[in-house]
This record gives sequence, structure tokens and C-alpha cells, in this order.
Amino acid sequence: MSKALFIVDVQNDFTEGGALGVDGGDAVAEGVTRYLEAHAGEYAVIVASRDWHDPDNDNGGHFADGEPDFVGTWPVHCVAGTAGAEYDEGFVTDAVTHHVHKGQGKPAYSLFEGVTDEGDTVAHLLEAHGVLDVDIVGIATDYCVRASALDAIEHGRRVRILTDLVAGVAAESSEATLVELAHAGAVLAESGV
Ligand SMILES: [Zn+2]
Repeated sequence: MSKALFIVDVQNDFTEGGALGVDGGDAVAEGVTRYLEAHAGEYAVIVASRDWHDPDNDNGGHFADGEPDFVGTWPVHCVAGTAGAEYDEGFVTDAVTHHVHKGQGKPAYSLFEGVTDEGDTVAHLLEAHGVLDVDIVGIATDYCVRASALDAIEHGRRVRILTDLVAGVAAESSEATLVELAHAGAVLAESGV
């Protein structure tokens, strides 16, 4: 029985100063690095995802035409190859075993919608490594962490959210998301870092 860690979208555009920066994003990046220093060895698979949008289209309506509503339409963010799409500097990625890109030309909140650099899906990766347990950290609690967690549960995995290593777009929806995920079967835990 092996474990996987998902590190969702710890990217410059989602941390302070980014196009869609959330409060606490930099702290998540640094906290994830400390967590990996202490715990990377416990995981068979460590997957880090990046939102990775096309520069020349609205990515399936994901980029707002006018004012974003911050629910289904967003400011331009995480355009492939730009600094905003890179991992936050506070996140040391040495322990990451698989890098996933998602959102090319379309909205993609869950990392199950992406593919690894090797062209593999996350679902296949979990099968291939016999992963039953998935721990999840990253940004944003109320969007991509939420969607990735629900997909992991849907795929039959036992999910833990490390609640001190996530940050959300809005306090209220982030709180509601943690309640929703707990009802869906996720365990809410602290990282201890
Ligand atoms: Zn996006």
C-alpha cells in the first residue's frame, strides 16, 4: 500500500503578487517545502501540477472577456512559458516525482485532467504505483484543491487534506469546501510543519 502526495498549482500567479494571487499562497509554498524535507520519503509518488494555459485564446471561456466573476471566469493567469506559470520560488521541487500540466485551451481545475511530462494521466500513475492513500496540499482550496480531492475520492482513494498547507480564493468558500470534502469522505489533518 503506497501513498501519493498531490501538490496543486503552487505557482507565481496564485501566490501574493500574482495575477490571481491568494492570501497565504507564499506561506503554502514555504510550508510545502518544509513538509517535503521531513516527509518526502513516505510517498511513492509526489505529483505537482501547474495550470498551463494557451496564450492565444480564452481557454474555453476560462479567461474573462471583460470583468471576471472569480467563480467561472478569471483574469488572464498561468500562461504557458511565462513567469506567472512557474512554480513559486518558495516551493523547492527536488522531491517531486511527476510534473503535471493542465488547462491547455480549456478550464481544468482537477489535476486528474492533466498529463505528466511523460504523457501519463494521474489516474494511471496511481494504478501503476498501487496508491491507495492520497494527501493533498496547494492552491486554491475552493477550486483546484477541491476538484482534485473530489476526483481522488471518485477514483476510490482515501484522501487527506493537510489544512495548514492549502490556501483559497475566498475565506467563506474555502471553509465550505473543507466541510464538503469532509462529508465526501476526506480526512482533514494538519501537516505538523
Ligand atoms: Zn486556470
